[in-house]
Amino acid sequence: MTTATIEKTCPAEAKGLTKIYRAGTNRVAALTDVSLTVRRGEFLTVMGASGSGKSTLLHLLAGLTERTGGEVLIDGVDLAKMSDAARTRFRRRHIGVVFQAFNLIPTLTAEENILLPALIEGGMPDARKKAETLMQTLEITERRHHRPDSLSGGEQQRVAIARALIMEPTLILADEPTGNLDSENGERLCKILRSLCDERERTIVLVTHESAVAAYGDRCVTLRDGRISGEQVMPAMRHDVKGDT
Ligand code: ADP
Ligand code: MG
Repeated sequence: MTTATIEKTCPAEAKGLTKIYRAGTNRVAALTDVSLTVRRGEFLTVMGASGSGKSTLLHLLAGLTERTGGEVLIDGVDLAKMSDAARTRFRRRHIGVVFQAFNLIPTLTAEENILLPALIEGGMPDARKKAETLMQTLEITERRHHRPDSLSGGEQQRVAIARALIMEPTLILADEPTGNLDSENGERLCKILRSLCDERERTIVLVTHESAVAAYGDRCVTLRDGRISGEQVMPAMRHDVKGDT
């Protein structure tokens, strides 16, 4: 795809997105007719009660879950139309995903987990340097040789965040990434994400249930029972954050 094509497309777009989970005779409509356009460089937050469909939306945007209806386009590309291998490669190169359950590889150290996407890609020239910088920024350097089971929840979360950022993805999808962090680390992460949008035009979709976290975003959509029930533009905090970083 040419740069010109990318400029014209949205980093993430959902049209009439629907997801129904079926387990036996049970049917759960997790998302119903969700349409959403995320602009380049935008920091979008998604809020909503537990079970409102936030994680499902993020998984569908990442092409990790098969949708029941509607469309998802990432940079104008429909991930559902790709082969599994092509989709996995596209995701690894362009999308940084922070899962609610971290999904770290238990047999690898913190540092190895962070470097994994770059290693699979056949090694990125300065991956080790980037990992070093990320570990320092997220204050996990001292834990680099530890495996996930000997890391605290907050440390595992920061490793998962570093792994999501190592490939310098243009789109970052994060599911409650501050959920296990103390307020200081949570604030630090929000500022890092904010500056990625402001200075490097990265696009972020972040799920949170904390309004203090949502305040770092540009816009907040609220989900209720699988539907978008509200949308709020959040201009004020943006200037505060810009002012003190
Ligand atoms: P949230 O992240 O907002 O808590 P989820 O997207 O995880 O919400 O879930 C939305 C709804 O879909 C909930 O009712 C949940 O129980 C259901 N759900 C999520 N994942 C599955 C699954 N794999 N199988 C069946 N139901 C699911
Ligand atoms: Mg969730």
